[in-house]
Amino acid sequence: MWIGIDDTDSPRGMCTTYLGAVLIRRLVARGFNLTEARLIRLNPNVPYKTRGNAAISLEVDGDPDIAFEEACRCVEDLADLPAEGTEPGVVVSERKPPVSFYHKALRSFCEPDEAVAILDAAGAKYRGWKGGRGLIGATAAIASDLPDFTWEILVYRFPGMWGSPREIERETFFLADAATAPSTWDTVDHENDTVVCSPHTPDPVLFGIRGQSPIAVALARTFVRTEPPGLEQIFLTNQGTDGHLEEGIVGELMPGHSYCVMGTVSGKAETGKGGHVSLPLESGGSDLRCMAYEPTKEFRDVVRALLPGDMAEVCGSYKGGSLNLEKIHVTGLAPDLAKNPPRCPSCGKRMTSAGHLKGYKCRGCGTRAKDAEVLVRKRRIGCGWYEVPPSARRHLAKPLIRMIRHR
Ligand code: ATP
Repeated sequence: MWIGIDDTDSPRGMCTTYLGAVLIRRLVARGFNLTEARLIRLNPNVPYKTRGNAAISLEVDGDPDIAFEEACRCVEDLADLPAEGTEPGVVVSERKPPVSFYHKALRSFCEPDEAVAILDAAGAKYRGWKGGRGLIGATAAIASDLPDFTWEILVYRFPGMWGSPREIERETFFLADAATAPSTWDTVDHENDTVVCSPHTPDPVLFGIRGQSPIAVALARTFVRTEPPGLEQIFLTNQGTDGHLEEGIVGELMPGHSYCVMGTVSGKAETGKGGHVSLPLESGGSDLRCMAYEPTKEFRDVVRALLPGDMAEVCGSYKGGSLNLEKIHVTGLAPDLAKNPPRCPSCGKRMTSAGHLKGYKCRGCGTRAKDAEVLVRKRRIGCGWYEVPPSARRHLAKPLIRMIRHR
């Protein structure tokens, strides 16, 4: 059977993955056999999410009634039920719901009623607390199909530590990265010299290491030194797979969806208030504003290096009329041409403008010339893929290190 859980946390605490880790231990203690634990990220643009729009799916063998009772007890014991907007959902099903529901929750928007109809059709047991919005994520998580997948080891804090500053030995994360990258990623951000895998929020997560295999993340974890850790759990995930991205066409993008779109740069990048960079793209007569926000740091220099006429595939979420860039594939570079007054063919001196549309004149010998000297400047950027730094990466975005290996 599959057990799905979602929407148990709030900005002031808890984390659905922690609740999943606790439930695993309670089920195993009651004789259940756990065959898989999934951490499934859903549409990053839903307004109801607390942080990363995560849901949990557990595949177990055992009695469904007991599993349902234990899962509901976990929610009652641990979820931040009084918090506004926390609407937990628990699902236990012996049939896998249609994968189309997972795809919809990953890329679009769903209503709780749609989840309920699917659960009724599957003969599932389910319970929603308050509005029961969590049934969407819980159902989508157990319906998930992972043609591509990654792993994450999540290390949690002892409950008494929640809310206090995390004690971590910073350099041990750099050691873990040095020993296991590229089989692990996003543990640290070298460019910005920070540990990115340990949050600053009041939830139970101490740190999480992402990687290509359970062995890689478990090995990386052995290098890390911190305050005494509580539970540790390895999850199979859809993180780092680009599962949220759809092929899109400029002019036909839907708000709240995430896309890969081809186009031609139609103007120079502009840096606005707060350091946010915007770049106009054109395709088939329609325009698209692409944004690289300040937290994307040095990635903004890539965007600023693009020139009108360059061709690119851009990836990111379409929100508020802009595509928020996660990565960019520069597929064609326009020549960067600069015009200079020509040298005088008679005396070799640099000529000067003879006036608007009047060509050039040599101040030394009076020789006239019509055309400017055209210089082809070296471009500061080459064709290829560019991505935001680890500190700005979204959970679902596929890091380039995985694309090089898997494309
Ligand atoms: P955390 O990552 O810390 O576990 P969260 O960011 O996952 O928190 P939740 O508290 O789970 O946030 O809230 C997300 C809510 O949005 C859940 O109720 C979930 O069922 C719902 N949801 C997820 N995907 C969709 C979707 N595509 N359409 C509508 N609702 C969705």
